[in-house]
Amino acid sequence: MHALRDILEQAQKNGVAVGHFNVADLVMLKAVFAAAQELSVPVMVGVSEGEREFMGVPQIAALVKSLRGEADFPIFLNADHTHSLEKAVEAANAGFDAIVFDLSALPLDQNVRQTKEAVEVLKAINPNILVEGEIGDIGTGSEIHDDAPDLSRGLTAPAEAKQFVQSTRVDILAPAVGNMHGMLKSMVRGEVKKRLDIARITEIKQATRALMTLHGGSGTNDEDFRKAIAAGIDIVHINTELRVAWRRGLEDGLNKHPNEVAPYKILPFAVESVKQVARSRLKLFNSATTRVSAIPI
Ligand SMILES: [Zn+2]
Repeated sequence: MHALRDILEQAQKNGVAVGHFNVADLVMLKAVFAAAQELSVPVMVGVSEGEREFMGVPQIAALVKSLRGEADFPIFLNADHTHSLEKAVEAANAGFDAIVFDLSALPLDQNVRQTKEAVEVLKAINPNILVEGEIGDIGTGSEIHDDAPDLSRGLTAPAEAKQFVQSTRVDILAPAVGNMHGMLKSMVRGEVKKRLDIARITEIKQATRALMTLHGGSGTNDEDFRKAIAAGIDIVHINTELRVAWRRGLEDGLNKHPNEVAPYKILPFAVESVKQVARSRLKLFNSATTRVSAIPI
């Protein structure tokens, strides 16, 4: 069985990225797993603090472990956007493969100090666990927003990123490079796409040589994704697009079977809808033919 670090380093070498999808129930987990299996590519599933509270920390860990073990398949579990050491420790003890320790809302010096401490505590629990740190502002909430927040002043500076990675010893860095959590209504309708600051990604990668995650990937321009991955992004997070697909699939199932009460006859519509989105994104993130350059670490 591969370790997540090996999978990510291999992706980095190959100029591809590992897709990371948030799940909030068994429907979404089944869909993401099926999409990854169909394409035979590794995948990460993430659960935010809210999603973890709904599913249960040991329960989601057991589900992912069961899928990984039964099919001997590289599916990994990430504690997405964890805002306290207590919640991070809970996830590490439950056997999560990775933790996003997110104190990006704090002043940089406090973020550095507390993230460094978290890395030490979490590695003492599990030396193989990967810890991701965040700097910069990418907004909050994987939801449908009415207005675009102004995140231009929160973009990550390469020198700051280097200092952050060196001081904290995080395994993975999540920078702010034009990405944003959630989607605007115009993005859900497909009229507007998010654009990324590719030059900044290149500079941050060269400065840090760290594994890098792109958060808030929903609704991003496909060509920008390709360039961002070629420039050094190793993990891409998709959440809101999956949530939209989940709702549409569920509504479709309910509309097609207005008198049905058996969940297992209605929910497959939601599984299929979510699976299509996950499959399309995984295909894009794993298309190595578009690689421009691979940066050695
Ligand atoms: Zn995120």
